[in-house]
Amino acid sequence: MSIEGIPQHPVPITEGTFDTIGLSPNIVDVVRRFGFEHPTPIQAAVIPIALSGKDVIGLAETGSGKTAAFVLPLAERLVHGRGVRGLILSPTREIALQTKAFLDLFGANHELRTACLIGGVKMLPQVKDLRAKPDIVVATPGRLLDHVNRLNVKLDEIEYLVLDEADHMLDLGFLPQMRDILRLLPRARQTMMFSATMPDSIEMIARDFMRQPERIDITPQGTAEGISHRLYLVKLENKRPALLALLLQELGSTLVFTRRKIDADWLFHILDRQGHPVTRIHSDLSQGKRVANLQKFRTGQHRILVATDIAGRGIDIPGIQHVINFDVPETVEDYIHRSGRTARGSAIGTVSTIATWQDMQMIRNIEIEIGEKIPRCTVAGVPPEVELEKKPAARERRRL
Ligand code: AMP
Repeated sequence: MSIEGIPQHPVPITEGTFDTIGLSPNIVDVVRRFGFEHPTPIQAAVIPIALSGKDVIGLAETGSGKTAAFVLPLAERLVHGRGVRGLILSPTREIALQTKAFLDLFGANHELRTACLIGGVKMLPQVKDLRAKPDIVVATPGRLLDHVNRLNVKLDEIEYLVLDEADHMLDLGFLPQMRDILRLLPRARQTMMFSATMPDSIEMIARDFMRQPERIDITPQGTAEGISHRLYLVKLENKRPALLALLLQELGSTLVFTRRKIDADWLFHILDRQGHPVTRIHSDLSQGKRVANLQKFRTGQHRILVATDIAGRGIDIPGIQHVINFDVPETVEDYIHRSGRTARGSAIGTVSTIATWQDMQMIRNIEIEIGEKIPRCTVAGVPPEVELEKKPAARERRRL
C-alpha cells in the first residue's frame, strides 16, 4: 500500500513485531496493511514508554522512523471527537505535511482528524479544518500563534505535545514563539521531543518543559553510517569553480547547501544558465513553489537541488547520493542535519564540503563531532589551498 505524502525507503529494523510493544490489534492492523512488519529501533524503544504516559526525549538519526514512533502512540491513545488533544510542532512546512500524512493513515481506525497549520498558504482553509473538530493539530509555531491570536483554536485541552526536530525548535530563532505556545498548554500533559542532535544547552531548556523525561539515544557516534565525508579546501574565488567541477564529477542526485537564501538564488541561476537540471528551495519561495520544486527533484526531473538549511531540514527523499556544502554550515548540528539528507536508511552517500581557510575552525569542530578527520580531496582544475597545520589541543587529539 502506498500513500501520498509518506516516503517509503529502506530503514534498519528490529526483529520484534508491533503487537509486542503495546499497540492494540486495531492499530497493528493498519501498520501491517501499510507494509511495516517490524518496528525500527527508535520505534521499539519509544512506543512502550510513550504508551506508559512518560515524557520522552528521543535521539535518533534522521530517517530512522521517528515520525511513526510518536504518531503511533497518539493514534493508540486518542479517539475522535473530544477536542484538540494532540499538538505536534514542526520546524518546517514540509515536515508538518509529512507528519499529517502519517496521522491520517495510522489514525484512520480511530477516525482521528488532523488540522495542519503551516505558514505560506491561505488561512481560510485552515480555519475550516479547525471548525471540522480536529483531534490533533500539526503546526509550525508562527502560524499556530496566528490562529491562537485570532481565537480560531484553543490549546487548553492538549494532553499530548510533540516537538519534532526539537534542537531546532528550542534554539534562539524559535524559542520566543515556543515559550508563548507552551504558556497556553496545560501543565498536566505528556511531552515528547525528537531530534537527531541535542546539544547540552538545548537539552537543559527542554527539560524545563518536561517531567522527568526518559532519554532514549539510539544515534550512532557521529553522523549516519554509510556516509563518506570529503573536504575541498580552496581559495574563496575558487569555491564556484570547485562546485561546478564537483557537479561534473559526481553524477547522482545532488543536494547543494548554501547558508543564505540570496546565495541559493545566485547559485541556482548560475547552474541553470550552464544547462544543469537544477531547482531550488528556500523560505522566501511560496509554499506551492517549494512543494512543486521538491517534487521535481524527487521525481528526478531535476538532478540538483539548491537549498538553505531551514528548507533542507524537511527534505526526506530517498536516493540522494551527494550532499555538497557550498558554504560550511553555521553550526556542527547543521552539518549533521545536512549530512543526514544522504545515506538515508541503509543507503550510502557522500558529503562534500567546500571550505576556505577561514572555515577551518568549524571543520575541526565537525571532525571532533563525527569522530574522524575528513579526508582532504582535490577536484579537477581547481588548485587546492595549502592547509596550515594547527596542532590540535590534547583533548582534540584524543578524540580524533
Ligand atoms: P522518518 O524517520 O519518520 O522520516 O522515517 C523514515 C522512513 O522509514 C520513511 O520512509 C518511513 O516510511 C519508513 N519507515 C518508518 N518506520 C518503518 C518500519 N517500521 N518499517 C519500514 N519502514 C519504516
